[in-house]
Amino acid sequence: MIVQSEALRSLVQKIFEASGCSPEESGRIAMYLVISNLTGHDSHGVIRVPRYVSLAREGMVLADQKITIVQDNDAMAVVDGNFGFGQTIGPQAVRLGIGKAAKHGVSIVALRNSGHLGRIADWAEMAAAAGQISLNFVNVAGSLLVAPFGGVERRMSTNPIAMGVPMPGAAPLILDFATSLVAEGKVLVAASGGKPLPQGSLIDGDGTLSTDPEVLYGGNDPSRATDNRAGTGAIRAMGDHKGSGLALMCELLAGALTGSGCAGPRKRQIANGMLSVYMTAEAFSAPGVFAAEVKQYLEFFKSSKPAKPGGEVLLPGETERRLREARLAEGIPIPEDTWQAILGTALELGVERPDKDAAP
Ligand code: NAD
Repeated sequence: MIVQSEALRSLVQKIFEASGCSPEESGRIAMYLVISNLTGHDSHGVIRVPRYVSLAREGMVLADQKITIVQDNDAMAVVDGNFGFGQTIGPQAVRLGIGKAAKHGVSIVALRNSGHLGRIADWAEMAAAAGQISLNFVNVAGSLLVAPFGGVERRMSTNPIAMGVPMPGAAPLILDFATSLVAEGKVLVAASGGKPLPQGSLIDGDGTLSTDPEVLYGGNDPSRATDNRAGTGAIRAMGDHKGSGLALMCELLAGALTGSGCAGPRKRQIANGMLSVYMTAEAFSAPGVFAAEVKQYLEFFKSSKPAKPGGEVLLPGETERRLREARLAEGIPIPEDTWQAILGTALELGVERPDKDAAP
């Protein structure tokens, strides 16, 4: 079904208000989740609403938190997210980093113990909107999903990386991806009969490559909820040894260095750690020099002859921007089971379902 973005945002905001978040926080969570859908990252969009609400109910994520400063100087800060919603903690940490880099040219912010930070591009976009370049490395303490290259047992999560470069007078370049071959959300979709996984996305305990979600979730037992720890295998890291190495570096930078903790066998509260580096181009060269070189280079990059007739070389962030424009105009496709799960959560919390004019 197709739902207009504003109707979806409004429903999700009401759900979080009813679950105990302030109107401001509820609006923020709703906005970021809907942006994920608008940009085509449905696995990080409103599909998360029931899970976020149940995490809040279990006290695994806390409403309306503020970051605590653990260490702070001109160049850097270590901050604790206190297990607040990532949509609230993320902007506070990014604002701190932007403020320092605006004064000193560069800064680093190490964020520990944040609730799910969602689509990491959001934070690179926020820095780019302030005219800053950013590098963001993320890990997920408490989550084991991905096997290292050469191994079959899980040793890390889907550890994303996002980088942003502002482009004066144009949309920024935003590179943002998980370091696993597929996001867990895509395995979940395949498990419920949706789009099958690409070949070799998973690896079973005996080293066999697979597309069978049971490798991650174990045998299908309808009496229990999906448990991503129950399978005998793992998701594979992207790019063989290179992606596996990047994922490892995310554990070290976002997990160990921030103090959020690395993935491990011990069951613990799930949290995102994020190490972010902020830079202003003016700290490196005279105003306009970097932007001019970037503009010139991107034209050269994109001018490569397409591999297929009618094809096109795209820049990081271009697919998301195009889809965002299309979905803003035409609405967001929401699978029926996702829509029913959101309405079920709304009903539990006493939120009225949207009227027929606003959503189907
Ligand atoms: P993906 O595989 O769709 O890759 C997206 C990136 O590739 C974007 O930068 C996009 O612009 C670029 N891209 C896509 N098609 C392109 C093309 N044809 N040419 C050039 N560039 C192209 O992303 P993913 O790995 O599925 O990640 C999805 C989202 O999940 C991301 O937003 C990520 O931050 C998020 N995530 C979050 C967590 C967390 O713990 N918070 C964990 C994992 C992933």
